[in-house]
Amino acid sequence: MNYFRKSIHEMSGYVPGEQPPLGTKIIKLNSNENPYPPSPKALKVLQEIDGEMLRRYPDPTGKSFRIAASKVFGVADDWIVVGNGSDDLLNLIVRAVGESGKQIVCPAPTYVLYRTLAEIQDAEFVEVPYPDDYKLPVDLLIAARGAVTFVASPNSPSGTAISVADLEKLAKELSGILVIDEAYVDFAEDNALNLTKKYSNVIILRTLSKGYSLAGLRLGFGIANPALLAELNKIKDSYNVDALAYAVGAAAIADRDHKTANAEKIKASRAKLAVSFKELGFDVWPSQTNFLLVRPPNGDAERIYQTLKVRGILIRYFNQPRLEDKLRISVGTEEQNQILVKTLKEIL
Ligand code: PMP
Repeated sequence: MNYFRKSIHEMSGYVPGEQPPLGTKIIKLNSNENPYPPSPKALKVLQEIDGEMLRRYPDPTGKSFRIAASKVFGVADDWIVVGNGSDDLLNLIVRAVGESGKQIVCPAPTYVLYRTLAEIQDAEFVEVPYPDDYKLPVDLLIAARGAVTFVASPNSPSGTAISVADLEKLAKELSGILVIDEAYVDFAEDNALNLTKKYSNVIILRTLSKGYSLAGLRLGFGIANPALLAELNKIKDSYNVDALAYAVGAAAIADRDHKTANAEKIKASRAKLAVSFKELGFDVWPSQTNFLLVRPPNGDAERIYQTLKVRGILIRYFNQPRLEDKLRISVGTEEQNQILVKTLKEIL
């Protein structure tokens, strides 16, 4: 097939986690979904959607959702851009900046999509290795001179926190854009939202997929100064987010109590699960997310992944450098976590 650009032929493409059909009897701990249902207030909005809303095109800028989000985050609504999940916004940023001859930089290992997006644009993709303790390699990132630098904060798949002071140093010293991908921030102790006000090159990305239990809705948003967003909005698909997502998302984001209560439950389960893994002899990285990166005794991660799958428990195995002896496991409900630990005891 030589219809496509050379870079498309050559790239391997992003491979998402397995998403078995609804109703499949499995314990799904492979995509860092929230194990608890979305806000009842959001589900009520969904049930009451009327046909007129669907007959018309949605507002291209998602004003109603931006106003709801602006109240929660204390930023004006023109500091917010909407996306079909935060993946859509990552794509938008790379499309706006990336081209041959420009560097797209991130610490690694991290979210693999950054690489795919850079390759699509023929940009040079530069990975700066994280040390084993996952402290952000700030000076090396600055030296890599990215037109865009991506930092997932907290990081995935390590789950580790990134210090806001380190992010601030990056923001100050980079000449390019700093994307702080806060997909997992709802389970973390700190966030970098304030940096958007101090540094015009910073954009924060958030999603409703994790903290708000709405991965299937596909709604994410970015926060940055309006001048930066104006450039992105020039090339954003006009109707990248649908009317259902705006309406349900606005109700979900306003229901802070629901999100916080679920996040607290998940954080408590995360701590218990980490203890269980350590008792089983696993190495466990300190997590500020709704998942754990663990290294099984003897490092036989792939065998454990396969055996759990046969037993109906899906977790994530990354066959890539520095991760091939590790597993990434989403925190489930207490019941799911107990079954996971019991099954691991049997198969180890
Ligand atoms: N960033 C990171 C670090 C992620 O792990 C994910 C989820 N795979 C995303 C962004 C994208 O999330 P979504 O598109 O569902 O908002």
